[in-house]
Amino acid sequence: MPYTVSLIPGDGIGPEVAEAAVRAVEATGVLIKWDRVELTRKVIEASGGEVPQSVIDSVARTHVGLKGPVTTPVAGGFQSVNVTLRKRLDLFANVRPVRMLPGLKTRYRDTHIDLIIFRENTEDLYAGLEHEVVKDVVTSLKVITRKASERIARYTFAQARLLGRKKVTAVHKANIMKLSDGLFLRCAREVAREYPELEYKELIVDNASMQLVLRPEQFDVLLMPNLYGDIISDLAAGLVGGLGLVPGANIGEEHAVFEAVHGSAPDIAGKGIANPTALMQSSVLMLEHLREQDAARRLQAAIERTYAEGKHLTLDVGGAASTEQFTDAVVGAVAVSH
Ligand code: NAD
Repeated sequence: MPYTVSLIPGDGIGPEVAEAAVRAVEATGVLIKWDRVELTRKVIEASGGEVPQSVIDSVARTHVGLKGPVTTPVAGGFQSVNVTLRKRLDLFANVRPVRMLPGLKTRYRDTHIDLIIFRENTEDLYAGLEHEVVKDVVTSLKVITRKASERIARYTFAQARLLGRKKVTAVHKANIMKLSDGLFLRCAREVAREYPELEYKELIVDNASMQLVLRPEQFDVLLMPNLYGDIISDLAAGLVGGLGLVPGANIGEEHAVFEAVHGSAPDIAGKGIANPTALMQSSVLMLEHLREQDAARRLQAAIERTYAEGKHLTLDVGGAASTEQFTDAVVGAVAVSH
C-alpha cells in the first residue's frame, strides 16, 4: 500500500523545489500517493485571506504533509498562513537540524556544526494579536503559556535523549521579559530536572547569537520560543551555507508537516535556479517519520554524495547548476546508494 502524503507546493520557488523533492523521494522506490493542494498568495486572497479548508482537510486526512513556502505580504494584507496552518493542525514543535554538508566551501568549513533547533510553534508574538491603541501607538501581544512551554520542553528533552544528544541550551530574554520568557524558562528548568544525564544551560538570546557566530561547535540542542527560533534558524542556516540547505519538521500529536526553513524567495522564483536541498532534506525527515529508514538513509547519502562531488551544485552554494541539473544528480546518486 502506498502512503498518502499532502503535497503543498506553495508559491515563489515552492513549486520548483517541491517538484525536485518529489523526484528525489520517488527515486528511493517508496510508493507515495501525493494529495496535491494549492496554497498560494492568489488562492489565499481568493478565500478572503484564510487558509482554504481543503488544505487543512487534506493534512487532517493524510496526517503527513510536504510543504513548500508560501508568501506572506509584509506590513499589511492577510495573516501568515504558515502560522495559521501550524496552529490549526496543532503542530507545536518546529524542529530544524543544522549540519554541514560535505565539500561545501563555507566560512565555517573547518568547524564541526551539528545542532538541532527546537522552536515552539504556536504562540509568542506569532499569535498575531496586534492592536492600534490610539493613532501611531500599537501593541503586539506576546503570549506564552505553561501548556505550550511545557509541551515543547518535554518534546525537546525526550528527543534529545532519544537521539543520544548531550546538551540542551534554552534561549530566552527573561532578563527583560521576566514574566513571559520567565515562564518559558521555568518550564524548561522543571523538565530539565527529569533528564539528569543531559547537560542543561541557559543563554540570553543576544549572547546566544554572538556565541553561535563565534563558536557554533559548542551547541547541541537548542530550545526556544517562537520568535527567537525563527531568527536563530536563519542565523544558523547562514553558518552552514545558507537557506538553500536547512530542512525542518512541524510536529504535532497527530500530524506532521515537513518544510524547509527558507521562504518563497521571490528574487529567484521562476528562474530554475533555486536550491532544492532544504526541501529534499525535509523529505528525508519525512521518510524517517514514515519509518522508511532505509530510503531516508539512501536519499541523505545521495544528497551528501552530490555535495562531496561538487559538480552539480546550485548558484547559492557556489555552483552553476540549475535546480533540475542538481536534482538529476541526486536522483542518479540515489540509484547507486545502498
Ligand atoms: P527567503 O527565505 O524567501 O529568502 C531569503 C534569501 O535566501 C533570498 O535571497 C533568497 O533568494 C535566498 N534563498 C532562500 N531559499 C533559497 C533556496 N532554496 N535556494 C537558493 N536561495 C534561496 O526570505 P524572504 O525573502 O525574507 O521572504 C520571502 C517570503 O517568504 C515572505 O513573504 C515571507 O513571509 C515568506 N516566508 C515563508 C516561509 C514559509 O512558507 N514557511 C518561511 C519564511 C518566509
